[in-house]
Amino acid sequence: MLSIDLHSRRMAVSLLLLLSGGVWYAYGKPSATADTLLYPLFIRPQIAGNFAELRRTHYHGGLDFRTHQRCGLRVRSVADGEIYKIGLSAKGYGKVLYVRHNGGEVSVYAHLSRFHPAIERMLRVRALKMPKKRNMPDVILEDWVMPVQSGQVIARSGNTGASGGPHLHFEWRSGEGEDTAVLVNPCLKGWTVTDHTAPLLKTLAVYPMDTESHVAGRRAPLYWPVSDLPDTCRVGGRIGFGLEALDSIEKLKFHYGLYALTFSIDGDTLAHYRWDSLPLRYNGTVHTHIDTAYYRRGGGRVELSRVDGRTPYTPYRQYKDGGCLVVEPHRCYRLVVTAADFNGNVAFIQMVLAGDLFF
Ligand SMILES: [Zn+2]
Repeated sequence: MLSIDLHSRRMAVSLLLLLSGGVWYAYGKPSATADTLLYPLFIRPQIAGNFAELRRTHYHGGLDFRTHQRCGLRVRSVADGEIYKIGLSAKGYGKVLYVRHNGGEVSVYAHLSRFHPAIERMLRVRALKMPKKRNMPDVILEDWVMPVQSGQVIARSGNTGASGGPHLHFEWRSGEGEDTAVLVNPCLKGWTVTDHTAPLLKTLAVYPMDTESHVAGRRAPLYWPVSDLPDTCRVGGRIGFGLEALDSIEKLKFHYGLYALTFSIDGDTLAHYRWDSLPLRYNGTVHTHIDTAYYRRGGGRVELSRVDGRTPYTPYRQYKDGGCLVVEPHRCYRLVVTAADFNGNVAFIQMVLAGDLFF
């Protein structure tokens, strides 16, 4: 198993404590315990996609494990349980297995090329075939159960369904129902990766939130590359914020989503999330969390601080004033935005907001 550099992690967190006036959110991970899961592949685990990263239509529901452009790698059950659901689809998860574990938790293995021979045999007997086209109906089987042991090979990895290349998509869920299940960050199950690289902060956005608000005298949002951020910005009225950031891991060419994001004003949290879980039924709400107008114009994915009361879901577990600042004239505020990955590598930016009269 790969090991995390605890010293660096503590250093990073201490540095942040120092810089943010002591405001920090403990996001200690449970240490490896009896419920630590096996990795689902037999090769050294490398992640190509992480939990809740921002995709075009959804938050990513699990981890994508690299299979190094290969199909046919052995996939094992991460814990004792029973296969209780099998799916065949020309879209989405492709060939997928669901394993039910003790305590009502479920592991999901998607984009497979082949199932365990006993499952392939059962499908042949029932004349159930993989749909060839995206518009053909999915095959879902829930009337067949096969007990599996921790580490037992249950399938071969593949590239079926909506998959851009061979890999294994893995999810850990609490609960079975599509309406009630909660996607859980699998990294909380005792898995570790070596990663000393802090997220790269790319763009800061400041938004006037109503017709009486302004940012630097304008009624339109302002976007700055973080490399070219001014020290001070004049603002008035009700103001929201946004950040575009990309995380990476040394020596890997992939980009990942953040684990934690915090907007704070003078040391008080305006909005804070930490991706430990996500209700399955809300994983298509990503468009309500990002600046879609900016994204459609070809910009990156800017995550908004504001909590829109009309959307059924926000990732922010902690926020105040709808994630916006109501500026008092002639007062200065210190905005700090911090972004962290799961290993505790942290990056932050700050800016002084000079309170101005309303528009
Ligand atoms: Zn995936």
